[in-house]
Amino acid sequence: MDLGLTGKLALVTGASRGIGRAIATELAREGASVACVATSKERVQDTVDACRALGGAAEGFGCDVSDHAAVTAMAAEVQELMGPIDILVNNAGVTRDQLILRMKEEDWDAVLAVNLKGAFNTCKAFARTLMKRGGARIINIASVVGLTGNAGQANYAASKGGLLAFTKSLAKELSGRQVTVNAVAPGFIETDMTEGFQGEARDAMARAIPLGRFGAPEDVARVVALLAGTPGAYVTGQCLPVDGGMAL
Ligand code: NAP
Repeated sequence: MDLGLTGKLALVTGASRGIGRAIATELAREGASVACVATSKERVQDTVDACRALGGAAEGFGCDVSDHAAVTAMAAEVQELMGPIDILVNNAGVTRDQLILRMKEEDWDAVLAVNLKGAFNTCKAFARTLMKRGGARIINIASVVGLTGNAGQANYAASKGGLLAFTKSLAKELSGRQVTVNAVAPGFIETDMTEGFQGEARDAMARAIPLGRFGAPEDVARVVALLAGTPGAYVTGQCLPVDGGMAL
């Protein structure tokens, strides 16, 4: 199925590895050009090379998404080098898990700064461009934990729950300019973020997932591509769990 992504320019944050890398390469496979963002340009070079090998134009950009001024500067650099973007995927995210009794103020601030303020920063930097494109897309990578909560992840869950509310608000704000804004909420996906779960703990977690396995980054990327492409044209303000049934 042609997703109608040929000729579109997508920007993906957190594109150096894991889910973000899979999203960048999936969009490239579908014909989009991709601006790949991670904390440094060097870290994202492998993804850029992978996108180019799939035939798409791709460039790497380094930027801490929690830094408002740095995001504004990165947006100007992207515009100058690649032109106006059509698709913004806010995927960069971090965890600093701890029970509330042990959670430090900096654990709270760091997670909220990247996962929630990071999305504000990029949306703010690109909103005007996206509103002018006609049929632009914003896709925020949230988490099932933002829907259900999770012991030991109060900071992370709050950032992702906030991201869902942010998604709905922007969907309402930008709908008049035909910009759709949606969230994808992954469950347990095999990436660096979940590599700490091994052995029996991991097996028990997999058994608790109705589909019986952790997801692959590509499971998430394919759904993001659908929302970014023509099948997503009439979907806005929604949160789509990609979690093997975990949040049921
Ligand atoms: P990951 O493998 O740990 O990769 C995180 C990505 O975010 C990296 O590209 C990293 O770039 C980037 N990043 C981190 N802090 C950044 C910052 N301040 N500025 C710019 N980029 C930054 O994570 P993942 O598992 O692929 O997760 C991707 C997204 O999915 C996150 O939002 C995460 O919360 C969400 N998610 C993941 C799971 C899961 O099970 N894996 C489940 C639900 C939701 P560098 O390489 O430069 O550090």
